[in-house]
Amino acid sequence: MRDRRRGRRTASLAAAAAILAGGAAARETGHEEAVARIVAEATTRGRSWALLQHLTDRIGPRLSGSAGAEEAVRWTAERLRADGLDTRLEPVLVPRWVRGEETAELTGALPRRLVVTALGGSVPTPPDGIAAEVVVVDGLEGLRALAGERVKGRIVLFNRAMGAGAFSGYRQVVDQRSRGASEAARRGAVASIVRSVGTLSARLVHTGAVTYEEGVPQIPAAAIAAEDADLIARLAADGGSPPTVRLRLGCRTLPDAPSHNVVADLRGRERPDEVVLIGAHLDSWDLGTGAHDDGAGVVMVMDALRILKAAGLVPRRTVRGVLFMNEENGLRGGKAYAADHAAELPRHVAAIESDSGGFAPEGFSANVGAEGLETLRAVAAALAPLGATRITVGGGGADIAAMRPARVPLMSLVVAGERYFDWHHTPADTLDKVDRAELARSTAAMAAMAWLLAEMPETLPRPVPSPSPSPSPATR
Ligand code: ZN
Ligand code: ZN
Repeated sequence: MRDRRRGRRTASLAAAAAILAGGAAARETGHEEAVARIVAEATTRGRSWALLQHLTDRIGPRLSGSAGAEEAVRWTAERLRADGLDTRLEPVLVPRWVRGEETAELTGALPRRLVVTALGGSVPTPPDGIAAEVVVVDGLEGLRALAGERVKGRIVLFNRAMGAGAFSGYRQVVDQRSRGASEAARRGAVASIVRSVGTLSARLVHTGAVTYEEGVPQIPAAAIAAEDADLIARLAADGGSPPTVRLRLGCRTLPDAPSHNVVADLRGRERPDEVVLIGAHLDSWDLGTGAHDDGAGVVMVMDALRILKAAGLVPRRTVRGVLFMNEENGLRGGKAYAADHAAELPRHVAAIESDSGGFAPEGFSANVGAEGLETLRAVAAALAPLGATRITVGGGGADIAAMRPARVPLMSLVVAGERYFDWHHTPADTLDKVDRAELARSTAAMAAMAWLLAEMPETLPRPVPSPSPSPSPATR
């Protein structure tokens, strides 16, 4: 007990020093005590893991418009209401894309099956498939360097491998997945295949959205396992007969379907019209069960609200949880929230998204300028027990990005996600990849940061609008 008290006193002194260094008296006394209660509730009585178990095992994949997505809306709202939160469903019309059967094989005397999956939003192939010679390119730049006649009538394989650095590595190669089909079609290709974007070679396929450019023919777009991409690349280079692939995709786009964002408020005691938003996306891809992406974020938001209530912490401002629909293949939920709440956005003092997996917390990124970062660093000193004090520039969650023009301070939970892209958007994004204790600590970090921002006497500086377009979301 004596040691604990001394530790707490040391932490208080460190936090006070951080405030002086930051030059911003952003906190009031007593926050260490509040954070300690949040951490205790999250790590000893936390429900994040049990919630994630139900969401992934009992509900499962949650692609927009699917039965799983609708059950997730119903069940999360029911749970939030049961926890005593002011909960409502807000309508969102979502795209409805369904996968169907999909195969790919190297043709020839001895056909060989490839591990393949359609990219979300892809058009189908004819029922017999498309068979063509494959031309292998190193990313979009590799395609642009090729003469047009090398591409016409062929299937393009974008084979740039993902490098080191989870999120930065992803950003560097994901354009061949999202934009490769249109770039290839513009040069006369008949289909586009991308090397799965990921960091684990276990013959996994990584899906994700393909975006067709207007005015360019829409060609089927798929991903194959990295090992299969390497095989085709070797066959294309060994001087023998060029590789030919038959691709069959049975996917379809159906009419848009009605769905919902789930919104739950823990009403503020003094300034209820000022909102600290914590959010995550409820939809997932259909291959796995969306455990890290973004079931983990969903249960962090749900349990953070419950934890604040259970710890007896009634915030000065309203803490609002938003479970966004349709992040993966349309961002309709994020756009609908920003449009429907436009009048309220000037009083949104921060929006924090968790969409980087259920790993251990490291801190937060934010788009609040230099002065705001110093204020946040002083605030985040209280998160030392969670190891989540690091504050960096960023803050671009895909769902909350639509609030950027309203100058809402945007933040993201930063986690130790080096392994995120081993499983991201693959059939292997399942509950067993999530560590219960790490998930609980990140849940506590979300609850604690929401509490600290809701309690601050002042609010964070609102960011100046950026003249350049915001960077594309890292994790779609
Ligand atoms: Zn996500
Ligand atoms: Zn995703």
